[in-house]
Amino acid sequence: MRLETDDTETRDLVERYVARLALPTDRLRVTTDRAAFARWLGRRVPSSLGGAYAYLPSAGEHAILINLARIDRAQPRAVEVVVVEELIHMRDRLDGDLRRHARHGYDRIATRVAEVSGASLEEIRSCLLPVKRRELRYRYVCPSCGHEVRRRVRGTWSCARCSPRFNPRFVLRLVPSGPVAPAQGVAAVAPAVAATGSTLGNRLGAEGAEVRVGAGSSAEDD
Ligand SMILES: [Zn+2]
Ligand SMILES: [Zn+2]
Repeated sequence: MRLETDDTETRDLVERYVARLALPTDRLRVTTDRAAFARWLGRRVPSSLGGAYAYLPSAGEHAILINLARIDRAQPRAVEVVVVEELIHMRDRLDGDLRRHARHGYDRIATRVAEVSGASLEEIRSCLLPVKRRELRYRYVCPSCGHEVRRRVRGTWSCARCSPRFNPRFVLRLVPSGPVAPAQGVAAVAPAVAATGSTLGNRLGAEGAEVRVGAGSSAEDD
């Protein structure tokens, strides 16, 4: 195992749960350095991720990022639940289960993180620091009521104040960047899951979680 971190808590947790989950370590690399993980993958890794798992087909290796910069270490089990989750992704990959998250913190993977670590679902859902304002760089406005929403990524959403479900009549419009007024929040949007097609329907969830419709050849999960 290549364990590229000087963080002793991360090292101890990885070693403990690698044993608990009976994972082979000869083809496993773990880092707490997002730039190093991005080099392993050969592509950009969003700073918002608390952790990530990827299988590197060319090397035949499993790669894990524990992104300490995003983890709320004021919570005693925060690093633990991220370590356990990424190792569960590796366990799944080895067991031939390539399913992705249904909904982070609420899906079957969250249930297993709780079982393996003993942490509560509440602890699992609150292990990350809030997304910083500057990461919410896209500003959208409802054409009907004027409600303003900030988003981390570009996408198609409709205004949740005007319609609780996705409604093309209330699709939020991107405001060109410029002087920014105080934001009113990030959660009041209806996801474009009711629509189909390549423009609509590829974003999901008030948290801005993204459904990767066309998954690449290498498995990757956060
Ligand atoms: Zn509206
Ligand atoms: Zn995950």
